[in-house]
Amino acid sequence: MSDNPFRTDRQRTDAGLHTRPRRLRSSPALRRMVRETRLAPANFIYPLFVTHGRQVRAPIGSMPGIFRLSVDEAVLEARRAAELGIPAVLLFGIPADKDAVGIENYAVDGIVQQAIGAIKAALPELVVITDVCLCEYTDHGHCGLLNGGPLDGPHTHLPVGYVLNDETLAVVGAVARSHAEAGADIIAPSGMLDGVVAAVRDALDDGDFTHIPIMAYAVKYASAYYGPFREAADGAPKFGDRRTHQMDPANVREALREALLDVAEGADFLMVKPALAYLDVIHQVHVRCPDLPLVAYNVSGEYAMVKAAAANGWLDEKSIVLETLTGMRRAGADLIITYHALDAVRWLQQAGVNE
Ligand SMILES: [Zn+2]
Repeated sequence: MSDNPFRTDRQRTDAGLHTRPRRLRSSPALRRMVRETRLAPANFIYPLFVTHGRQVRAPIGSMPGIFRLSVDEAVLEARRAAELGIPAVLLFGIPADKDAVGIENYAVDGIVQQAIGAIKAALPELVVITDVCLCEYTDHGHCGLLNGGPLDGPHTHLPVGYVLNDETLAVVGAVARSHAEAGADIIAPSGMLDGVVAAVRDALDDGDFTHIPIMAYAVKYASAYYGPFREAADGAPKFGDRRTHQMDPANVREALREALLDVAEGADFLMVKPALAYLDVIHQVHVRCPDLPLVAYNVSGEYAMVKAAAANGWLDEKSIVLETLTGMRRAGADLIITYHALDAVRWLQQAGVNE
């Protein structure tokens, strides 16, 4: 050890030690002051699965803490979200019966239509977003009308069972309009069909719903992370898969093409789904489409992995969830659809960093 009090002069010539990033990490208050990315209740959208019946709160095995809810229970759950400051819920419906077209999907008394009415009556300030697709309503579990199905003459140049694009758009438009008539605040078409945003916009405008925004599932990958959701919503395809309309997980250039198309078709929000394995995609869409709010869907498989590991004591659920959600925001997501929403807000409140 030198007793020379000027020993640090030599070190000060080293720019690396003039510049000490640790100075800004030295206390909780300082760290809070320089934090670049924040989580707030207003960032979250809480998904709800709505089913027929009364006082139904049926657990979903692969998604601990998430339930299939009858309309009365969905109102209670929506109220919990609203009381925590979460601004919006996203509704998925589980119909009483399924058929080739999914008739309940656009029925006045369909399960989603009932839920919209009940939630808006009880909580008029809460934003109700509705998922619009065919897969939860069709007996084959696909996101559209199928080639060779009962209502559409076969296209001999396409395989039997191929999800027909333009024929399906008419059904999607009818569903979107019926949700708007029931009182939905935002329509979210999720099928990844070509032209679906324009079709929904036309259907809404024709019904005098020019004021209703569209949250476009602009970039939705054919992902294994949807597994638990398919149990929750009973929407797994009975045969085949969704690779002819959902995106290949390997592609990002195509994601930008999809996002820009949806912007051109009149989308009001863009979404990337799933989130965790696609943070680079979120970031690129954020950079290339900076004019629209960007939504990340923290999907069922991402939720299930965290819950399973936490249940085994392998990781700390609260820390993992808040870190993961922060990462999605840092990547560029303005909003996050997440099954963790209620817990995340409670944890933020406990931490005193809520704002
Ligand atoms: Zn679908």
